[in-house]
Amino acid sequence: MELASVDPSTGEEIGRYAVQGREEVACAVARAREAAVSWGGRPVEERCALLDRWRCALGRDADALSAMVHREIGKPLQEALGADLLPSLHALRWVVRHAPSLLRRRGIAGTRAWQEPLPLGVVGVIGTWNYPLFLNVTPIAWALAAGNAVVWKPSELATATALLLQGHCERVGLPVFVVTGDGTTGRALCQSGCDKIAFTGSVRTGRAILAELAHSGTPAVMELSGNDAMIVCEDAAVAEAARAAVWARCGNAGQSCVAPQRIYVHRAVYAAFLEHCRGVMQGLRAGVDYGPLRTAAGRDLVHRMVWDAVPRGARLLCGGYPLTDRPGYFYAPTLLADCHNALLLYTRDFFGPVVAVCPVEREEEAVRLANASAMALGASVWTRSRARGRRIAGQLYAGLVSINEVLLDAAHPALPFGGARASGYGKQRGAAGLDEFVLWKTVAPHPTGGARRHLFPYDRATLSILRGMVRMQVAEGWRARGAAIRELIAGVRNYRRDRARGCEHSE
Ligand code: NAD
Repeated sequence: MELASVDPSTGEEIGRYAVQGREEVACAVARAREAAVSWGGRPVEERCALLDRWRCALGRDADALSAMVHREIGKPLQEALGADLLPSLHALRWVVRHAPSLLRRRGIAGTRAWQEPLPLGVVGVIGTWNYPLFLNVTPIAWALAAGNAVVWKPSELATATALLLQGHCERVGLPVFVVTGDGTTGRALCQSGCDKIAFTGSVRTGRAILAELAHSGTPAVMELSGNDAMIVCEDAAVAEAARAAVWARCGNAGQSCVAPQRIYVHRAVYAAFLEHCRGVMQGLRAGVDYGPLRTAAGRDLVHRMVWDAVPRGARLLCGGYPLTDRPGYFYAPTLLADCHNALLLYTRDFFGPVVAVCPVEREEEAVRLANASAMALGASVWTRSRARGRRIAGQLYAGLVSINEVLLDAAHPALPFGGARASGYGKQRGAAGLDEFVLWKTVAPHPTGGARRHLFPYDRATLSILRGMVRMQVAEGWRARGAAIRELIAGVRNYRRDRARGCEHSE
């Protein structure tokens, strides 16, 4: 079987690729397992040196890579370079620099024990397409740095880009084995005995994967959909917040998991916010500032959701239609006012260039509405007050909360990223992202010799010492503590006496 990848700006076919099945996936996993032995045995510094060569190779091939992302996903070249390739290079630099110290043995305070990282073996990465470089390079690089081999099932919507990346991996000598295909290939990977799955994608697929993994008990890190809230307070820099909202929702044609989907704006600045949004959106140029949706089905879904909202109270201020004067899956940047939490636009995750705004009267109302979601990936709060920003950020239920920013923090390699509720669990990137791909084995050394009173045979003297120890734990006030100490001392004396006599003492 084959699948075709299509240029979403023109509808032209880019290439046809095999849909690999169980056998090919099993073969890739077997090769990865073999490679994992030597890769995991190398010092982390050596692994990072190779990852750095991968970084340099990607940087040198920037033109071809970004051109392919531009063609296959449809995002403007500026975004392919600035929001996909460049963050990937930053991320690789970060992991190369920090993995050696983060994967050092860790002493455990107050003990002789330590923890040391053990690679898991083979990590299956099942990827998405909306940032076909960054969202795949990062789990792959973090898993590799931690000493694992990787079997990568890229999205069927970004196969051409994935094969370019694979070429670089091969040339550098990284143990990354690509299997191309659709959901059936991904499913086969979940059944293949990988030691962990790193998944990025929709809630629906995520749940299907978890059901599959339950059979083998394979652990997973799940980066699923978001339904992010953005709160704009009355003291926010309104024009700045509006520009950021439009950029986040119309950049990449609104196909970012942390693009604010529910925008709660204080009534005092509501009209100004909408006016700024409209001003920016009406100036956006199709094919220059914003690209098409990745698929025709994606474009049609946005259209249905917009027109579900209008009869239910949302006010259409601009857009609301697919572009018919050009080929491809473009949708006009759309601004909706007076949205509310009952709309599909506010409850379902969706991708599309739609800015959907809801007025709020008070800070508490904004926080309550923001937290009333089945998903909890990202959120942002906009205010000039530091204290208010921190207060609201502290109250928001989300995996990543930005203050006066959107999107960018999700791409910072040092910041652990991951959601809660239906948005998944586990972290990608940062130090926590490395922890996902190792077993932190605890090693506890003990000297030989010593009394080892806990071993058989049990006796009454030990029992009375244990009673004294328990009383010590709960004794309050000097009197009670004194009594407990006396009891303990008496127990120890009895123990010694009995041991000297070679008999059990009676209480
Ligand atoms: P998707 O869930 O349709 O597909 C993701 C991947 O899973 C693809 O590679 C696909 O082939 C594979 N797949 C499909 N069915 C499978 C199965 N049964 N078993 C195993 N693998 C299977 O999602 P998508 O269209 O690639 O991405 C869009 C979604 O991803 C959106 O919902 C978006 O919110 C979410 N997303 C989340 C993040 C995040 O970091 N949390 C980032 C980007 C996108």
